[in-house]
Amino acid sequence: MLRWTETLLNTLREPPQDAEIVSHKLMIRAGMMRKLGGGLYVYLPLGMRALRKIETIVREEMDRAGAQETLFPILQPAELWKQTGRWETMGPGMFRVKDRKDAWYVLAPTAEEAFTALAKSEISSYRQLPRIIYQLQDKFRDEIRPRFGLIRGKEFIMKDAYSFDADDAGADKSYWAMHAAYVRIFERVGLKAKPVEADTGDIGGNFSHEFMVFAANGEDGILDCPACGYAANQERAERRVQVVPYQTEAGAPEEVATPGQHSCEEVARFLGRPIDQIVKSLVLLVGGKPVMVLVPGDRELSETKLRRLFGGAKVEEADEATVAKVAGPVGSIGPVGVELPIYADRALEGAADMVVGANKEGFHLAHVSLARDAKVVAYEDLVTVREGDCCPKCGATLTIRRGTEVGQCFKLGTKYSAAMGATYLDEQGVAKPLIMGCYGIGVSRTLQAIVEQSNDADGIIWPASVAPCQVNLLILDPDNAEVVAQAEALGKALEARGIDVFVDDRAERPGVKFKDADLIGLPVRVVAGAKSLAKGGFEIRRRTERDSVVVAPDKAVETIADLLR
Ligand SMILES: [Zn+2]
Repeated sequence: MLRWTETLLNTLREPPQDAEIVSHKLMIRAGMMRKLGGGLYVYLPLGMRALRKIETIVREEMDRAGAQETLFPILQPAELWKQTGRWETMGPGMFRVKDRKDAWYVLAPTAEEAFTALAKSEISSYRQLPRIIYQLQDKFRDEIRPRFGLIRGKEFIMKDAYSFDADDAGADKSYWAMHAAYVRIFERVGLKAKPVEADTGDIGGNFSHEFMVFAANGEDGILDCPACGYAANQERAERRVQVVPYQTEAGAPEEVATPGQHSCEEVARFLGRPIDQIVKSLVLLVGGKPVMVLVPGDRELSETKLRRLFGGAKVEEADEATVAKVAGPVGSIGPVGVELPIYADRALEGAADMVVGANKEGFHLAHVSLARDAKVVAYEDLVTVREGDCCPKCGATLTIRRGTEVGQCFKLGTKYSAAMGATYLDEQGVAKPLIMGCYGIGVSRTLQAIVEQSNDADGIIWPASVAPCQVNLLILDPDNAEVVAQAEALGKALEARGIDVFVDDRAERPGVKFKDADLIGLPVRVVAGAKSLAKGGFEIRRRTERDSVVVAPDKAVETIADLLR
């Protein structure tokens, strides 16, 4: 039994000034954690117990899926990161430190390089495949603005796993085994997390799901289909394309004066035309070379989709001088007569009576048919999907929701194994690169996400599987020997049943104990006092219920076990 009088635990009436979201406020107020510095937190004994329970569930499900636990150093030689080029591309978000001999190291933000190096040294034959290895370890990120407590900190706990397979089919099998393990993990910790299709971002590759928790303050936009369940990160979401309705040619291109009108909104208003009849023309540098991109005037280009179209090449906005050289003055550019590769969004396919920039300050061209007047290389899905677009799977209207990522699965392919020379010999004795996947869970972030999703005005409501303890036993009259004896006996009987018990044995008023019990939020509250014993036993209720029942001491263990099921 954990006793309050022996525990490092202080509850607070007021949340800290820097806490913006309810879970951050409650984690501090309930004495689960304390801030050590910006984005750095200490897990206190109660918070630590919840964290350990989450870690245990993660380990059990990883092991069940055939993964094996290891532990890698946090401090990793820069050399590893140079082999894949990420020493340069990771940028200022990665902590870099020097030892006394001026050798550089990384405080690991992730561990693809380290795991690939291990696979390179340990795996040599197809007979050793597949392998999935994982660790639970601290990770670091030099956040510009750490906030939301454990949701976006500088140091956090991750479970990261890496799979190594001989072929693509094997890699897919490992991927879906991890995906299934993630579904079980989030179910078991009591968190509603939805797998959504995601972009592969900096890590590369071609296959990814993020496990998202919907939350008003989430960093990511998720397009969600209420009809068929399709869900995708906004960066990556697709839509059922509806082409613009201007499909009939209306004569030759005609120069129209548009003095001082640059944005599509301005031009549409000035010419009295719908905004989707205006073409937004953009010049971007893809892998350093200028490319023109066309989207309807009311849409935003997705740089993520453009990057993917070019196999992950770097995409940047072109500067004004470059735009002027290859097209015209910024704000007046268009596709007619330019000698650039032109890519257009699919909604513009067949567009025949459009307004485009004339590549001349103060002028646009009307009646432009893209097929006739512009050299479009290809029509591709190039815009950011938004609320109201049609679901790519079923055509229903998509809604947008905010979410926080708690886990992610990536199929990496051979990106890291090829860069680092991690190969195996196949049955014919031919060296081939290992096919990899990587799989992360933000363990500390999950802890706080559970609180964000499960609380009320009075405090936290812990799911029984991860609660610091399952029962909060309140001794209201700690000076009454009979009350204490009954409470102690119940506590021991519960522990014998494998139910962990937190005892509030402080000499405090009942009102204070009730408030703290709600704030700390253990699943079942049991009150032992002279009054309740006179009524026939203990007052027992779930954290989520208002009314207690009085249960005789010899029935109490059964009642509590039932409530926890
Ligand atoms: Zn749908």
